[in-house]
Amino acid sequence: MTFELSDRVQAVPPSGIRRFFEIAEERDEVISLGVGEPDFATPWAARDAAITSLEQGKTSYTANRGKRELREAIADYVADRFELGYDPDEEIIVTAGASEAVDLAFRAFVDPGDTVAIAQPSYISYEPGVIFAGGEVLPVPTTKDDEFRLTVEGLEEAGAADADVLVLCYPNNPTGAIMPAEDLEPIADFAREHDLMVFSDEIYAELTYDGHHTSIASFEGMRERTIVFNGFSKAHAMTGLRLGYALGPADAIGAMNKIHQYTMLSAPTTAQYAALEALDSCANDVQEMVDQYDRRRQFVLSRFREIGMDVFEAKGAFYCFPEVPEGFTAEEFAEAVLREQGVAVVPGDVFGDVGEGHLRVSYATGLGDLRQALNRIEAFVDEHV
Ligand code: PMP
Repeated sequence: MTFELSDRVQAVPPSGIRRFFEIAEERDEVISLGVGEPDFATPWAARDAAITSLEQGKTSYTANRGKRELREAIADYVADRFELGYDPDEEIIVTAGASEAVDLAFRAFVDPGDTVAIAQPSYISYEPGVIFAGGEVLPVPTTKDDEFRLTVEGLEEAGAADADVLVLCYPNNPTGAIMPAEDLEPIADFAREHDLMVFSDEIYAELTYDGHHTSIASFEGMRERTIVFNGFSKAHAMTGLRLGYALGPADAIGAMNKIHQYTMLSAPTTAQYAALEALDSCANDVQEMVDQYDRRRQFVLSRFREIGMDVFEAKGAFYCFPEVPEGFTAEEFAEAVLREQGVAVVPGDVFGDVGEGHLRVSYATGLGDLRQALNRIEAFVDEHV
């Protein structure tokens, strides 16, 4: 028999970057600046805590919302780092990565026909998440001239005043843009004025290189309309352990937990022990990684400028977003530089139409490889531009 796919699954196009992986596999010695995950190992203390928990046989389910001790540690952490106050019993849910938290939010709050405004370029999972929930996506373009920050004018032009939900991701994947408090405040005003719910993906909150991260949930009147997503994949280099969380008002987190308790039961137990230790004792490890990302960021930005490729000053996450030279689309450039020079980058249009003409370059790679990759891109540009 053949399976009949649901309309929702058919409505989601295949991932635009799969073809690149296929080309990369054909070639030897590809340097990948394509992936969005840390090249660092999880801090040892966190791995050790996970190992100890396994040795002690702590391999049962936890409470649906996650171990109470971990929720308390998360509450203390977000209070300390981002001035956010959430109750560990009712306002925090621990999930299998931030990915699960994002999915739960779409399913808990988006009805068929609802409109979800997404600041673009954006992380690739939001749009499918909206479609799986039956909602409609409203792209809200941001531009290089605004350093890819979201503006009220952009929201108004896109018609976001009539949307039901606004999705933000700052520090941003794929651009590396950040939104300082003074830029976020008018966005918060807009959300309140037009009664929008805000989903704020803050998974890169620790990775900022020009001032401290501000959460939109910290503004007056925003806590009650915002769900914050965060997790351990990026700052704590724990991608494979699959641990994230969501913060929000009790009713909202309760609704998300209703789906979570049937679909996931509880987030991975071993990872919860690692996460507890990560919050308890790994702040220095995080700082060391942030310092290294910053060094790499400065190197990559200055090399692109030397090569003659225009790039805005990315200040967060571990991405920069250079412009492709004239005469190429983003996809043409990315494909040619991969085939000819063995450097993998992601064409910007994968992250929404407004990303056309750009490349997402990840610097979650050691300086040695970055140096070599940039030399190869330079050779490519010297030959073709
Ligand atoms: N949000 C953004 C913006 C991301 O870049 C990623 C990972 N690429 C995620 C969420 C997913 O994170 P997790 O591993 O916690 O599911």
